[in-house]
Amino acid sequence: MFEDRKKIENRTELDQLGEFGLIEHVTQQFSIHQSGTIKGVGDDCAVIEAGDGKVKLITTDLLIEGIHFDLSYTPLRHLGYKSVAVNVSDIYAMNGTPQQITVSIAISNRFSLESIEELYEGIKIACDHYHVDLVGGDTSSSCSGLFINITAIGEAKKEEVVYRNGAKENDVIMVSGDLGGAYVGLLLLIQGKQEFLKDNSFEPDFDGKEYMIERQIKPEAQRSIIELLKAAEVQPTSMIDISDGLASELNHICHQSQVGCKVYENKIPIDQLTFDNAADVDTTPLEAAMNGGEDYELLFTVKSSDYEKIKMIPECKAIGYITDQASGLQLIKNDQTVSEIKATGWNHLQKTSE
Ligand code: ADP
Ligand code: MG
Repeated sequence: MFEDRKKIENRTELDQLGEFGLIEHVTQQFSIHQSGTIKGVGDDCAVIEAGDGKVKLITTDLLIEGIHFDLSYTPLRHLGYKSVAVNVSDIYAMNGTPQQITVSIAISNRFSLESIEELYEGIKIACDHYHVDLVGGDTSSSCSGLFINITAIGEAKKEEVVYRNGAKENDVIMVSGDLGGAYVGLLLLIQGKQEFLKDNSFEPDFDGKEYMIERQIKPEAQRSIIELLKAAEVQPTSMIDISDGLASELNHICHQSQVGCKVYENKIPIDQLTFDNAADVDTTPLEAAMNGGEDYELLFTVKSSDYEKIKMIPECKAIGYITDQASGLQLIKNDQTVSEIKATGWNHLQKTSE
């Protein structure tokens, strides 16, 4: 009783920690009991010994209506596809091959059989596209809205697994495609919804803006990059997928590798359409790329000697290089000023969402 009251009096608000602070706080007291657990918390996937020089990769993601998706502008079929793609993306981020998924859902009575069929249609299209098998899950009712939790399992050769912590000074930092589009797409959709709420005869016109909407609604995991790098016999020294924005992911790689970085604004790949539409939704192309998130491109580092082997691959774009830790994370702006790269990203617990 006394203990409980003490706990209440010592209440700490979660926004003081943020999402990553909370994960670190609650998981740091756990020790590893199993010799087969090669990597626990802290990377895109857990890595588990599988014998024969192989490892299993495991990742899970929870998507909640109203937090991660809004069904007023997200077709359920696309949501199903995206739920799989974002998990598979974490397997590729470890340089692995996805193999199986489990799908758990909680549904309120607002949903019909037909709508759940639509969700699973998208899940199936993604399973076929990424060659993964649906092998189980769980189903529950929910008091309000839709919850989707997908776990993906993959495999890799033990020596081919790429972690967040392997970046070394002078490594070249690369991204697999253009950034910021998914965030501008999200803002366009939100803007359309707000107009509709003001006047329900409003029909959003996304003519010429399909690219960004698609980046948001139907992202792809970057299987081809993994294959291209393998074909070029280049193994990244570190890798992460860009779910929270370039700034957040650079922070993860630099923090875990104990290095710094120098990234050049004019090297960050941003599609022309993202560039042209950013101002209309009150953001900047740089802000969208750094802190928007959900592009699901891969951010990786390679030895400078390997850079020569892949610099001709159009999808692989160099944006800077790794420096020593003391130099910090630097963004060299187009006007030659230098700013520190801070991770704001989608740190849910520091936002106003409840
Ligand atoms: P990603 O963005 O790649 O999906 P996250 O940022 O969600 O990764 O998670 C970072 C790490 O923290 C991962 O290793 C993940 O498994 C772990 N993690 C996240 N939430 C929890 C939790 N509630 N308990 C234990 N581990 C967690
Ligand atoms: Mg990830």
